[in-house]
Amino acid sequence: LTPVPSDIQISRAQTPKAVQQLAKEIGLLPDELEAYGRNKAKVRLSVLDRLQAQPDGNYVLVAGITPTPLGEGKSTVTIGLVQALSAHLKLNSFACLRQPSQGPTFGVKGGAAGGGYAQVIPMEEFNLHLTGDIHAITAANNLVAAAIDARMLHESTQTDKALYSRLVPSVNGVRRFSPIQISRLRRLGIRTTEPGSLTPEEVGSFVRLDLDPSKLTWQRVVDTNDRFLRKITVGQASTEKGQARETGFDIAVASEIMAILALADGLEDMRVRLARMVVGTSRSGQPGVSGAVTVLMKDAIKPTLMQTLEGTPVFVHAGPFANIAHGNSSVLADKLALKLVGRDGFVALLLVIFFVVQSQVRRPGNALQTTRYPRVKAFTLPPELVWSLTEAGFGADIGMEKFFNIKCRASGLRPSAVVLVATVRALKMHGGGPNVSAGAPLPQEYVDENLSLVAGGCHSNLRKQIEIAHLFGVPVVVALNVFKTDTPAEIQLVCRIAKECGAFDAVPCHHWALGGRGSVDLAHAVKEASATPGDFRFLYSPEMPIVDKIRTIAQKVYGADDIALSPQAQAEVENYERQGYSSLPICMAKTHLSLSHLPHLKGAPTGFTLPIRTTTFCSGSSSVSAAQSVAWSGTRAHPEPDAGGNTSHLWLLYGPNT
Ligand code: ADP
Repeated sequence: LTPVPSDIQISRAQTPKAVQQLAKEIGLLPDELEAYGRNKAKVRLSVLDRLQAQPDGNYVLVAGITPTPLGEGKSTVTIGLVQALSAHLKLNSFACLRQPSQGPTFGVKGGAAGGGYAQVIPMEEFNLHLTGDIHAITAANNLVAAAIDARMLHESTQTDKALYSRLVPSVNGVRRFSPIQISRLRRLGIRTTEPGSLTPEEVGSFVRLDLDPSKLTWQRVVDTNDRFLRKITVGQASTEKGQARETGFDIAVASEIMAILALADGLEDMRVRLARMVVGTSRSGQPGVSGAVTVLMKDAIKPTLMQTLEGTPVFVHAGPFANIAHGNSSVLADKLALKLVGRDGFVALLLVIFFVVQSQVRRPGNALQTTRYPRVKAFTLPPELVWSLTEAGFGADIGMEKFFNIKCRASGLRPSAVVLVATVRALKMHGGGPNVSAGAPLPQEYVDENLSLVAGGCHSNLRKQIEIAHLFGVPVVVALNVFKTDTPAEIQLVCRIAKECGAFDAVPCHHWALGGRGSVDLAHAVKEASATPGDFRFLYSPEMPIVDKIRTIAQKVYGADDIALSPQAQAEVENYERQGYSSLPICMAKTHLSLSHLPHLKGAPTGFTLPIRTTTFCSGSSSVSAAQSVAWSGTRAHPEPDAGGNTSHLWLLYGPNT
């Protein structure tokens, strides 16, 4: 329709097909689905076992230029592209998106279901609650917080013996260590597995975590921008006398448990990662609640199946923020999607019928066999016909860098192309256009044609973001998300400069106004880019010293001259290296509004030194490569944000080992 109705009007005007129908179309078996109402369902991970012999489809990442308040439309482009691939080019494709947090949904940003005629529907169900994963993370995170406080209280008031009786489980009257306790004993250098053989000192060192309250890094979480909870005092009841301490709430998606959900590759892997979480900075004891936490997360580990406006499949799973965490949807959703696109139930069914009929013609007399889904398993679509798109948060310098260095390292998956989303208006701002505050009328520069501002933005931010993708050896297709104020000359200029800057192709997209058919050109370009031989590489090797890894990201990705570690960060890094944790990847926490650490610097700033203020260590998993733990998020370590709501400082956080 012209004019394009509001996002919510469009969403409500379309009736989604029942999720069971969608599941059948994409080749899921009925018992692989757990419906949550009519429109969405959890998908069981057993699908991965069933389809393990299946070749993966093409894996395409959607990232963006540095965000501005004018909006870029990464989700909208992702959905428009998947609609074009599936509904218009008839190629099997899946989109994997992050679940939005209620913080931004009820804040300035709004929801994340896409927009215009490129949306996930029903939009309200996508944006709010979904299938409860964020609530499960909140419960699990706060269970750990409660366990830590309860543990510190008991340790301060009870003898070693009383603690021992409380904490070592008794089975049929015999005390036995739990596997977690045994591994804790090992870490303390105690070899025995017989509770009775511990000396009183060993009992003391074993049962007491002895956490330093001033160094606890674990906070409670809530999925709301509730600023008054950022700093609170707990332990004020008379029963907790003497235990009062200052702590605070983070937003739920900043929980380490969210990062674990996004990186885990199964329930057992998630359990191991949860058990390895470190809750205090100076002592590596964990509160012994991982079993209960895993139970709380047992449904959250399954991705949620939904659909686009044009009835094509979408997985929604995990939702870490990109500026403070690794900002990508889950490894499991991507893996499931890559397997599911590879088999076409419908085409395969026809092929089976064709071959069976052929055999009947040759051998008359045989009864025609009925064909059921499991029998078509052998028929797969070749990888060049199947697509899975996944989206990384914020600009390519943030979400894409972490997608490659953290997520791809953890998953082993390698993308065949990057789609880099840009808009004329955002490029104008990077080219020197005036700043815009949310809700204020648009300055004329963003409404009228202005080729010099567009060129400025292309030669600075767009060029730099294309170069960043090339650092990883992946071809880039620039998707210019067209707004109605863009002129033909501006659109042509962006596409021309993008190609001069090394993009494989640059294509204007009209999905917002036209749905999938507005992104058909982009779909063709992505198909061609994915067919080019890739030369994927990581930016740094895990063996590099920590400071060198940080410097590599700062110089090569952000364009900094150098980094400057605060004395605190320097001491922390030395401590991690002494403890043997230097091989962990780095998860930077910095403003998303600039390639630098200063939000007001647009374009591609140079000549700055990146300050590293503090660091957080987020995993105890360095010893087992298959059981890496978490990329990390760090609102809990943030000082007060600046007036723009963004921090002007930078944190360095640790992610999975490989
Ligand atoms: P991002 O993923 O980059 O945060 P979204 O895709 O969620 O951005 O889009 C943000 C908002 O911008 C949505 O409400 C969407 O409807 C709107 N939007 C996106 N593209 C366009 C467009 N081409 N024209 C008008 N509005 C758009």
